[in-house]
Formats: sequence, structure tokens, C-alpha cells
Amino acid sequence: MSRATKIVATLGPASSSPEVLTQMILAGVDVVRLNFSHGKAQDHIDRANLVRDVARQAGKEVAIMADLQGPKIRVGKFENGKIMLEAGQKFVLDAASTTLGTNDRVGLDYKELPRDVKPGDTLLLNDGLLKLTVEAVRGEEVHTVVVIGGELSNNKGINKAGGGLTAPALTSKDMEDIKTAMSFQCEYLAVSFPKNSTDMEMARQLANVAGEPWRHKPGMIAKIERSEAIPVLEAILRASDGIMVARGDLAVEVGNAAVPALQKRMIRMAREMDKVVITATQMMESMIVNPVPTRAEVSDVANAVLDGTDAVMLSAETAAGKYPVETIEQMAAIALEAERAEDVTLDSDFTNKHFGRIDQSIAMGALFTAHHLGCKAILALTESGSTALWMSRHKIKVPIYGLTAQPISQRKMALYRNVSPLLMPTYTDRDEALRRAEALLVERGVLKPGDTYAITCGEPMGYPGGTNMLKVCRVG
Ligand code: PGA
Ligand code: MN
Repeated sequence: MSRATKIVATLGPASSSPEVLTQMILAGVDVVRLNFSHGKAQDHIDRANLVRDVARQAGKEVAIMADLQGPKIRVGKFENGKIMLEAGQKFVLDAASTTLGTNDRVGLDYKELPRDVKPGDTLLLNDGLLKLTVEAVRGEEVHTVVVIGGELSNNKGINKAGGGLTAPALTSKDMEDIKTAMSFQCEYLAVSFPKNSTDMEMARQLANVAGEPWRHKPGMIAKIERSEAIPVLEAILRASDGIMVARGDLAVEVGNAAVPALQKRMIRMAREMDKVVITATQMMESMIVNPVPTRAEVSDVANAVLDGTDAVMLSAETAAGKYPVETIEQMAAIALEAERAEDVTLDSDFTNKHFGRIDQSIAMGALFTAHHLGCKAILALTESGSTALWMSRHKIKVPIYGLTAQPISQRKMALYRNVSPLLMPTYTDRDEALRRAEALLVERGVLKPGDTYAITCGEPMGYPGGTNMLKVCRVG
């Protein structure tokens, strides 16, 4: 049995050599994340080229997801790099400060903070490890009292409990980074801190304009990590190709305890709306330093799989951890085991469903048939990958193979749950295409003589959105 859930791994110093990257891809990475919060444009271009080279040599296509930094709201720098805040002490966040921070005050990268907060608000620093209460706002100074102290070092992030920071989702740095990401034609572009669907529409437009020279349009991923995004989730999903359950910042804004239920809701909504979903942050956190995960991390990964996520994501574990390859191996093993225990709910998924499109109806017909007939595989001949996407929104034990002539579609499908993308030339003759598709799967060892499979295609061949045929075959 092959693994259905995909693995997204963030690249960083621990994973940028050809050797380690090769091992990571062989261990099961499907999508590589380039984190634009760190590094220069050229670093990302170099890494993207390396990923493409190494993947080609390893014989496995992986997608690249460029993740924009967004308006990360941060404190400035300190005289000594860091300070120790004690509970009960006063501390000033000063938007006008031009000097290095001390034990009493620090400057701000984000100059709007004094306008965004009022007395009584709670500010969380360094991913929620430190907690401050706002006492007063005087001009450019935010006066606070420390509720939970600890170490605060240079450029740590600030969140406001309950949300409400007005920073726009796309900064001028993001706009430059979009151009960089389009120059290497990333398959996915992740937008940090979108508040609404307009943020996503704007990012998509910028990406499409920057990708125009190559006619490249990336899949747009909205990182759900702001309180404001929750009530408008449906509109954000509609404006995006997928979402990331960005549990790091989200937990700080909405409170830790609210996140597990939100994760389940987001995954369900995404699948119902034919969008992809990535579950992210701290999934295997302890493996940054340890060779084995905690029991809780094992459960967390397994539960995200059972919730129906397309992919589970690694951040510092693979970017800066001691065990990037082992983390991927163990994550892959956990996902596979969780999938074995899953129930297929296909028939109930179809109850009261209406399909308004021919291609979508064919995709559903293939699923239903393959499931009840016990087919070995479903083959979808697809230009854009949409047929494979629709099929992958339902839990089914039969593996789906997305066969396409478009390398970009092939790599985009790398993120879809239970879809193995394969490259196959376009044949204008339908019978030849069907024969070649079967031969490809036989060659790969997926199909053997006597196996049945379901295959979908569109006639005439080679047009996106044209799927109109389902055939059920037995390998002769
Ligand atoms: P980040 O996003 O790692 O870029 O902050 C993910 C998250 O907030 O969980
Ligand atoms: Mn985040």
C-alpha cells in the first residue's frame, strides 16, 4: 500500500545540500517549502534549482511552495541581543524609537501598533511564550505590564490576542518576493496572514502578472493564522486553491485550546469545496533535537491524517533540525499506519450530492465504481489535474494516478491526497492513449495481468476540462 497523505518539508540550513535533499525526497517529501521569512532572493532561487535537479535525479517530481513572509509584526533589536522580562515589570514598545532596546523598552518594526491597541489588550510575544497587558498608549509608545515573563530576543514576533492588527497581508517585500518565486515558477504560493478574500485575490493577481512571461499561474494557498480569517473562511477558500492550518500564529491569536476543533472544521470545509489543505507547525517539533517523536506528536500527525488533511508539514524540523531525514521517515510511517485504520465513507459522501458538471460526474462515477468493484487503481488522464483533485476529495482505499502531459500539473498534483502524478505524452488517438496509460502502470508495477482498473479521459483528447468518459478495464 502506498501512502496517501503528502509531506511538505521546509528547506533551510539543515536541508540544503544535494545529499540531504536527495535522502529527504527518497524518504517521502512531496512538496518543498521555501520560507521567504529567511534568506535572500538568490538563496531561494538557488534552492529551487537544487530541488528541481535533485528531484529529477531521484526520479520523483516534487512541488515547490513559496511561502511569503507577510506582515510579521516584530519588536526591534536589543543592545545585548536579548533581555529577560520579569512578571510584574513595566515594558514600553516604542514605535518612534531609533535606538537599541533595553530592559525597559524596545523599538518596533511595525509602526502602526500604537494605533491598533488600547488599554486592556493582551499582546503575545515570541509565539505566545511571553504575555503583556497594555496599560496605556501615549503617542507612539505602548505602555505594558508583563504578565508572563521570559527571554525576549531580537526581532521576535508580536501577536494581539483576539486579532485586530491592521497590517495589510502583502508587504512591499512580499511583492518583490512574488516576482522571485514566479521566476522559478513555484507550483504553490502561500500567503501569510490574509484577513479576507480580497487579500488572496490581490496576491493571485500579482502572481499571475509576475508569471505572465511563462504563462505560469501558481496554486494559491491561504495561511489561516488570523482571528479575522475564521468568520470569512468560506470566502477565503473560494478565492484560493487551498489553505494551510497555520497553527503557530493561529494558536496565539485564538488561544491554543480552540485550534484542534478549528483544524477539523478547516479540513472538512476545504475538502467540501474541492480545495487542498495542509496542516502545519510543531507536528514533529521534538525531532528538531531528538531522534524520535513524542507520543503526542505521533498522535497529532495521525489525527491530522484521520481528519482528512492533504498534507502534513514540517518547519524547523527539516529546516534547522538535527534529524531531517529521520523526521520524514517517521512522519511517513505514522501517516501510512493511520490511513490503514481509516474508514471509507464514499457512499455517504454521495448522499444528497448534485453534480452540475460532466467532468466532475465522471470523476465521481470512477470513484464509486472503483470502490465497489475493488479496482486496483484509478487512472485519470488529465490536463489541468482537476479530475484528480475532485477524486481526491473523498476517502477511498483505491490509489488514484493522475496522468498528464503538463509537468506543472504533474507537480501540482503532488500535493493532492491519494494522488500519484505521472507524466505521459498527449495522444490524439483515444485508444492509443488508453493503451499507453495501462502500459505505464504495468511498467511501474502498479497493475498486473488480471487486475481491474477504472480510467477516465476526455474526447477529443488534450483539452482541459474535457473529461467525459469512464472505462473499466481488466489488464490482459
Ligand atoms: P509560519 O507559518 O511558520 O510562517 O509562521 C505557520 C504558522 O504560523 O503556523
Ligand atoms: Mn505563521
